[in-house]
Amino acid sequence: MTDKEWLYEGCCEKGAVRDGTLDRSLCSVCEEKGCVTGNRQRGIRLSCREYEIDDIAAECERSKPLYFDNGGVTLTGGEISVQLEAVGELLKRLKQSSISCAVETNGSNIGLAELIPFVDHWIIDVKHYDAEVHKKWVGVSNSVTGKVLQKATEATENVLIRVPLIPGFNAGKEDASGFVSFIRQHVCRDNIKIEFLPYHEFGKAKWEQCGLAYKMPAQKIPKETVDFFEKTMTENGFTCIHT
Ligand code: SF4
Repeated sequence: MTDKEWLYEGCCEKGAVRDGTLDRSLCSVCEEKGCVTGNRQRGIRLSCREYEIDDIAAECERSKPLYFDNGGVTLTGGEISVQLEAVGELLKRLKQSSISCAVETNGSNIGLAELIPFVDHWIIDVKHYDAEVHKKWVGVSNSVTGKVLQKATEATENVLIRVPLIPGFNAGKEDASGFVSFIRQHVCRDNIKIEFLPYHEFGKAKWEQCGLAYKMPAQKIPKETVDFFEKTMTENGFTCIHT
C-alpha cells in the first residue's frame, strides 16, 4: 500500500517511484522487495503481517482479563474461510482455553460447518437472496451460504445475520421480502437476529493506496430504507439489532 504524502523516489531503489506514482508492474517482478525489507520509509508498506497460531493463541490467552460480559475473541477478515485450516486450529486452541469465540464470515465455504463445535457466536453475511444475482456479483451462488446458515442455526441460537444494504444491488423495497424468504428457508429457529448495514465508503482510501480504481458510484442508503427493511423483518417475526 502506498501513502502519497510520503511516496518519493527514495522509497524504491529500483526506480519504481516517479513523480509520486508507483509503477506496480516493476513490483510484480521484484523479488527483493527492498522497500519493505530494507530501510524504513513511510511511502510503501505491506498491509499484512504473518503470525504463527501459537503466537495468536498466546496473545488471546494473555488478553483474558479484557473479556468481560461474556466477551472473547472474534475472527474476522477479509474472509476467514480462505484460511479455514488455520482458523479451525486456532478455534480449537481457544476452546481448550475456555475462551468464547465468534466468527464473522460470508458463509461461502461449506467447510465452515466443521467449525461449529468450536464457535460460540456466528456472524454470517447474506449479500443477496437471489442465487443468480448473488453469483453474478459475488462470483458464487448463495446456496452454500444458505447451507452454512442452516447448520449454524441448527447448532446454536447465537447467530447474527448481517445484510449489507448496497445501492442498486439489494436495497430496493422489493428486495426486503426476498430476504425474508431466503432467511425463512435457511434458518432453523425463531429467535435469530438480523442487522442491516448501510453501504459506506470507509474502505475507499485503501483502493487508492493499493493502486486500484474505486468503481462504486457515490450513493448513500437513506435511513428510511434501513427503517423499511427492519420493519419488514420485524413484521415477519425476526428481531433486528444494531451492534
Ligand atoms: S517491490 Fe518495492 S523495491 Fe521492488 S520495485 Fe516495487 S517498490 Fe521497488
